[in-house]
Amino acid sequence: MPKRLILLGGGHAHLRVLKHLIEHKPAELEVLLVSPSPWQYYSGMLPGLLAGDYALQDCRVDLASIARRAGVSLIIAAVEHWDAPQRLLDLSDGRSLSYDLLSVNTGSETQLGELQAVGDVLLPIKPLDHFYQRCQQLFDAYAPGDTATVAVVGGGAAGAEIAMAVQQALQTRSLCADTLLITGKCGVLAGHANAVKRRLRQLLQHKGIEVIASRARAIEPGRLEVGDKQLRVDLLIATTGARAPDWLKPAGVSLAKDGFIAVNACQQSLSHPEVFAVGDVASRVDKPLDKSGVHAVKAGGVLCHNLLAAAKAQTLKPYKPRPVSLYLLNTADGKALLSWGPLTAQGAWVLKWKHWLDSTFIREFNE
Ligand SMILES: Cc1cc2nc3c(=O)[nH]c(=O)nc-3n(C[C@H](O)[C@H](O)[C@H](O)COP(=O)(O)OP(=O)(O)OC[C@H]3O[C@@H](n4cnc5c(N)ncnc54)[C@H](O)[C@@H]3O)c2cc1C
Repeated sequence: MPKRLILLGGGHAHLRVLKHLIEHKPAELEVLLVSPSPWQYYSGMLPGLLAGDYALQDCRVDLASIARRAGVSLIIAAVEHWDAPQRLLDLSDGRSLSYDLLSVNTGSETQLGELQAVGDVLLPIKPLDHFYQRCQQLFDAYAPGDTATVAVVGGGAAGAEIAMAVQQALQTRSLCADTLLITGKCGVLAGHANAVKRRLRQLLQHKGIEVIASRARAIEPGRLEVGDKQLRVDLLIATTGARAPDWLKPAGVSLAKDGFIAVNACQQSLSHPEVFAVGDVASRVDKPLDKSGVHAVKAGGVLCHNLLAAAKAQTLKPYKPRPVSLYLLNTADGKALLSWGPLTAQGAWVLKWKHWLDSTFIREFNE
């Protein structure tokens, strides 16, 4: 039995591991959880939080509480440097930690690329808590009746939901919202069924959210070039896809082409068998998966089995993703839009269902 297991990051899969450890922690195994925040925010509820459906405390898991109940030591710090061959992690609080087994579930960062020159008005969607706080500060700076031009860049489900939620949040504060959704050439919801895209485009049009299917490039603070137009923006929200954190590259662990940790079907590193990785930070080489919370959640049970199996030199299990993932998009009007393979639906009942699923998830881990 190895002596020390480190859970790096309080992501979705680690919540499942912590929950399991509450009743099944091997006494001889020391487990540490490293997280920069005592809270794990749930991205699926962020649009509802912005739109005013939830309070902040409804959308987060208390890592300190679940770690305590699981007999796990919580260290509030971020990893800044990882030496995989030496099995060493250097943390932001100056500590160095060694491990026998490591599980990485630290998510991803936001691709900012050509948007950075837009300056202070640029707001990456991650980390979610920083994003939410800065949004509130920026919104508070306006007086009722002011006009705010907000560009959301990114045509995925997160971009569409955030555009609708921000518009609703501004209107609730009696501001005139001029909201743009800039999607790149692929348009909205690339990879979803045409019927879903059609519904969403109608909805955005009805709400007065302009969709621009061109690439955005910042040219100076507050100014963007989009296709052949130049636009001045008060706020630019980047939901532009997942980027690997900088500390992975020098770690000496095998990385996939996209820069994330290369793992096999058992979510185990290709180069270091004592390392497991799940969620956005991992890339399956046998079966590329979307960077989506669904996989981080669903792989949690398998990760848990595999960490304990690896500790006892037992057989690992593969994570077998479902062929089609369910997406429920909060449309910030008391309704939600369902996308499940070729199927789509929209209505208040979809939002009720989404609310039930999301709040059940949070309740499962909070005391
Ligand atoms: C607005 C929005 C809505 C979304 N809605 C959905 C949805 O409805 N369905 C869906 O499937 N996907 C959704 N996604 C995608 C989803 O958020 C991600 O795929 C998912 O969060 C990835 O989960 P994870 O467990 O890998 O990482 P995360 O949930 O990002 O958790 C990572 C954890 O690691 C910690 N961490 C980060 N860096 C470090 C470090 N250096 N050291 C230590 N700890 C660290 C973080 O603080 C965090 O606690 C949405 C994304 C956004 C932005």
